[in-house]
Amino acid sequence: MQTIVVASGNKGKLREIAEIFTGFAILSMQEAGFAGDIEETGATFAENALIKARTVCKALGRPALADDSGLCVDALGGAPGVYSARFAGVHGDDAANNALLLQKLAGVPEEKRGAYFESCVALVFPDGREWTANGRTYGKIMTAPQGTEGFGYDPLFYSSELAKGFGVASPAEKNAVSHRGKALRALARMLQGE
Ligand code: IMP
Repeated sequence: MQTIVVASGNKGKLREIAEIFTGFAILSMQEAGFAGDIEETGATFAENALIKARTVCKALGRPALADDSGLCVDALGGAPGVYSARFAGVHGDDAANNALLLQKLAGVPEEKRGAYFESCVALVFPDGREWTANGRTYGKIMTAPQGTEGFGYDPLFYSSELAKGFGVASPAEKNAVSHRGKALRALARMLQGE
């Protein structure tokens, strides 16, 4: 089985990638010996995913997979988007990010709370081959957190496809409709067709 290094330190993402991208042995970049910080300077999810995958692939000489993803909220003009992880200032502070999101949407009526998650995944091989795929999932932002499943903005995201919140969905339910699930399955199909 081919080993792929995931260019992320986000435990929630790593768990989902291992659940969805079966057929490959998944190692986190820390497990593979990459300890550096990667600056996400891209303006799009695709640019950032490629920056992360190329950096780890080059440093380790092994195939590297990255997901760059985020939440795009209609009433905020698509924000936080590529800044989702650091919306409230500190990278990866989910509680602060969720509190800020609720604050920014205070008083916004239900019909204007539409949002989607987007993911771009990039897989880069040492021989220079590069693959990318995208996925989206639509829903709305609830007025209070619900459930403890998932990570990040999941407790505030009501999924239109599941007709329930990601915070109360099982991992299998979320993976079946999520932006990351769609992007990773599209990537797997591309690899099979190679
Ligand atoms: P990245 O590591 O720069 O791609 O940041 C992704 C950020 O987007 C995460 O830290 C979360 O805040 C948010 N995010 C991405 N995917 C999800 C998801 O599936 N559920 C909840 N939040 C997510």
